[in-house]
Amino acid sequence: MKFCKKYEEYMQGQKEKKNLPGVGFKKLKKILKKCRKDHVSSKINLHNQNNCPRECPVCDGTFFPELLKEMEDVVGWFNENAQKLLELHLASGFKKCLTWFRGNHKQKNHLGLIQEGKDLVNYALINAIAIRKILKKYDKIHESRQGQAFKTQVQKMRIEILQSPWLCELMAFHINLNESKKESGDVVVAPSSFPALFDGCSLMFDDGKPLLSCELSDSVNVDIDLTCSICLDTVFDPIALTCGHIYCYMCACSAASVSVVDGLKTAEPTEKCPLCREVGVYKGAVHLDELSILIRQSCREYWEERRKTERAERLQAAKDYWDHQCQSFTGI
Ligand SMILES: [Zn+2]
Ligand SMILES: [Zn+2]
Ligand SMILES: [Zn+2]
Repeated sequence: MKFCKKYEEYMQGQKEKKNLPGVGFKKLKKILKKCRKDHVSSKINLHNQNNCPRECPVCDGTFFPELLKEMEDVVGWFNENAQKLLELHLASGFKKCLTWFRGNHKQKNHLGLIQEGKDLVNYALINAIAIRKILKKYDKIHESRQGQAFKTQVQKMRIEILQSPWLCELMAFHINLNESKKESGDVVVAPSSFPALFDGCSLMFDDGKPLLSCELSDSVNVDIDLTCSICLDTVFDPIALTCGHIYCYMCACSAASVSVVDGLKTAEPTEKCPLCREVGVYKGAVHLDELSILIRQSCREYWEERRKTERAERLQAAKDYWDHQCQSFTGI
């Protein structure tokens, strides 16, 4: 099936979810088609500037603004709903999760959550594919790299759905719930409204490098590297900065020059992400609770080790902090 049709069908099937934003794939294609026609009629003109036809007067004014707006809506809807679902799951904190893993949870609710998480991942992926395809088409027609440039721009604006920390959380959530499902010997599969794009997510180690990976049946591959680029180990107590980069919480604190006691909220807006050098990425950082559970479950020894050292470091940090506070208070 052609992707365009597949996408249309998918969006049709999601209609019961009110106001579900999507990419106007058909409409955007139409804009490009019209542009191609205009190009053909002015073929000589196009050939003259074939080396560098960077801007297209025909469709830049409609194509990119439209796509941008749609992408904003898609990622906004996705983030909001993913957050809601995960909050529901984590509402009563880690204690409840432990009982989840023991399989004591109500079966129906459990499956409902799995399905909802899966649906959301599907939504993110199919839209990511749609966006990638339409941009590729743009570049092909214009023989330009504007589409790619737009993609880079969008990543900087943090509206690229594959960068969303909530996608990472949902993938971890998916694995966590699936594991607990396996443990409880439950083989019931909830009916899906649309065939899943992905066969599943997994935490794997590629040459020792921890990856959160999603196997897809289409052209987009999602591999999230779980190495903290500060301590160069698997992220512990992970946090995603608003640029999408993931670090250990403590590593992020040290990169932002704040104490663990004060936390990332107190980071100066001028502090940069160590990887992409973007500023202002600390304030809206998201704690990746599901990912944390996943790492704890999958790498128990490592996790215990890190927990011990981190506890000592945190105690020391708290002590230093209060010593400092007392000193400034008493003036000694
Ligand atoms: Zn054009
Ligand atoms: Zn780290
Ligand atoms: Zn970054």
